[in-house]
Amino acid sequence: SAHEMPTRLRVILASPRGFCAGVERAIEIVERALEIYGPPVYVRHEIVHNKHVVETLRAQGAVFVEELDEIPDGAMTVFSAHGVPQAVVKEAGRRALPVIDATCPLVSKVHREGQNLARKGREVIMIGHAGHPEVEGTRGQVPGGVHLVSKVEDVESLQVRDPDMVGYVTQTTLSVDDTKDVIDALKTRFPNIQGPDVKDICYATQNRQTAVRELARQVDLLLVVGARNSSNSNRLAEIGITMGVPSHLIDDATMVQDEWFRGVSVVGVTAGASAPERLVRDLIARIDQVAPSSVEHLQGIKENMQFKLPRVLADAMAERG
Ligand code: SF4
Repeated sequence: SAHEMPTRLRVILASPRGFCAGVERAIEIVERALEIYGPPVYVRHEIVHNKHVVETLRAQGAVFVEELDEIPDGAMTVFSAHGVPQAVVKEAGRRALPVIDATCPLVSKVHREGQNLARKGREVIMIGHAGHPEVEGTRGQVPGGVHLVSKVEDVESLQVRDPDMVGYVTQTTLSVDDTKDVIDALKTRFPNIQGPDVKDICYATQNRQTAVRELARQVDLLLVVGARNSSNSNRLAEIGITMGVPSHLIDDATMVQDEWFRGVSVVGVTAGASAPERLVRDLIARIDQVAPSSVEHLQGIKENMQFKLPRVLADAMAERG
């Protein structure tokens, strides 16, 4: 019956899933900095939103802090992939901290878009989620700050100086669908609004959402490997729920509950952009304990994005041969 535990399971993996180019680069920056300069290397904020990644780097000598005042003078300092406000860049400069910036280039691009809009005298509206470090970073990179909106209703209550002189940017890890609705509302209320030439939602976010939508059509249960504070991971689980599939965002395999599998025969698995593939393998092994499982891979969009390391690291590595 629908309530019995399965005797077999089909597992289908989304593609693409897991690490994006910005996360790969940020982790490599910390690893290289540890190699070249030796521990400790201080990292402001979780380098990416995943405690497994953080713990692995901590074991190699990285020290994670929330604010610069926790970093001793002269200590090697890395800014996380989410970006930082200008005030943090300035403070690090004032203290002459040696900084390597692991801000994802696609986040930096949003900073520049916001700065360009502000330079043209436009008030900047940011579509994003309050409290996320990327939003705090972008807010603090745009002269004059930003108005934050996260849903259509927020657009109605916005107060601006001149409705003809506004522009918008978005967080990189939003829901493609929700963002479209908010942008439509903005364009209705501010017909002369200027937005990015290309969408700010990054390729990795878009591709993982496309993949999970395809996956959700074929499964009875969706498991998303990712952290609670990972924006893009939360969006993946939301898509499953919106499509009527019971969906769980889990840190790792230890959070899996056997109860979830009652009446289930096909399980979908994906992972957020900051979740290591090792966690997906552990999850598959855990599912296999619930019931013997076969594993299939969906065909998806091929990704070949790669970002260069910051100059200072690339040079130091070249010097070492
Ligand atoms: Fe960069 Fe997108 Fe990855 Fe964020 S999710 S680090 S914006 S590529």
